[in-house]
Amino acid sequence: MFEHLKEQPADKILALMQAFKDDPREDKIDLGVGVYKDADGKTPIMRAIKKAEKQLWEEETTKAYTGLAGDPLFGERMAALVLGDAVPAGKVAKVATPGGTGAVRQAFDLIRMANPEARVFVSDPTWPNHLSILKHMDIPFTTYRYFDGVTGGVDFDGMMEDLAQVRKGDVVLLHGCCHNPTGANLNISEWQAVADLLNKQGAVPMIDIAYQGFGDGLDDDAAATRLIAAHCPETLIAASCSKNFGIYRERTGCLMAVAHEEGRHKLNQDTLAYLNRQNYSFPPDHGARLVLMVLGDDALRTDWQAELEDVRLGMLKLREQLAGELRDLSGSDRFGFLAQHRGMFSRLGVGPDKVEALREKHGIYMVGDSRMNIAGLNAETIPKLARAIIDVGC
Ligand code: PMP
Repeated sequence: MFEHLKEQPADKILALMQAFKDDPREDKIDLGVGVYKDADGKTPIMRAIKKAEKQLWEEETTKAYTGLAGDPLFGERMAALVLGDAVPAGKVAKVATPGGTGAVRQAFDLIRMANPEARVFVSDPTWPNHLSILKHMDIPFTTYRYFDGVTGGVDFDGMMEDLAQVRKGDVVLLHGCCHNPTGANLNISEWQAVADLLNKQGAVPMIDIAYQGFGDGLDDDAAATRLIAAHCPETLIAASCSKNFGIYRERTGCLMAVAHEEGRHKLNQDTLAYLNRQNYSFPPDHGARLVLMVLGDDALRTDWQAELEDVRLGMLKLREQLAGELRDLSGSDRFGFLAQHRGMFSRLGVGPDKVEALREKHGIYMVGDSRMNIAGLNAETIPKLARAIIDVGC
């Protein structure tokens, strides 16, 4: 049997991590992997999570299974965090999943089950895992224009032109905030136009929200998801807790299905639970429990929000410093988009030759499509990056 297996494409980011490790230069800079890092290059455990873990250790009396959807309180609190009061709670079915990736995967499974004809439209570019999971599942997909390499912003006209091609029942995958890999996002009136277009075409939006709180704040970052869920009859939402709770390895996420009427809720809820059962039975609980504890306790929640806000503002400051250095060095505002982008990533918008030159000549590691993890920088490394960007002729 095993002789039939073929080599699968290696994960480019993991290969880049290895190359970084093997580079002996002391002043090398890692802007590759998508993990938040503080100014010392550490990925800390958030204070509220640490406190919740201690409390849990003292209070937890059993490790028996939870429900197939995970603890319903986790789902409720996640729905409140992401959706606020944009839609009545009775319309929202939700299940815990292993990370945001698990939620994306379960959403695709639901799409395939509900409508095998559906095509999934993804932004060009998008998070590579979207493409690889769609390919693996043999779900037809196509891309819509998204990033404007000239302005560093969104090619909104191109995007709308491409989305006008969607057919009834197709699914349009959108990043709720902090677009990965570009950092470029729609404004709220553009989101409204997307909602109107999808409704006109009869397409279903699927929102991937993996960075709530990393862009403009918890509520602002959820505004687009709330608008879509309130305006479109049906919405799928894949939420990740990896970044905003800093619990990457605990594998914590939530898939929500918003129905057009409350009466659909039971069937949707049962279907999501059924899909969990088919793929891994009960979802992991530890991270989900920490999240529900933090969200449900005033003191823990306040502390979590304060720390998340520090993380967000720190990244914004780095963006502004980098854009400022580049303005001074280039004598132009052509890198101003770096300060406009939101979230952990920015696409510099240069070709693989420049990305390679930055790596070879300056020990600066970014993904081949010129995606930089802004959190990989600090006040000391920014001037070096800015000089290198100009030096290689970006
Ligand atoms: N969606 C996007 C766009 C992401 O960037 C990520 C994290 N890299 C995820 C989903 C899911 O992350 P995780 O499975 O670690 O929660």
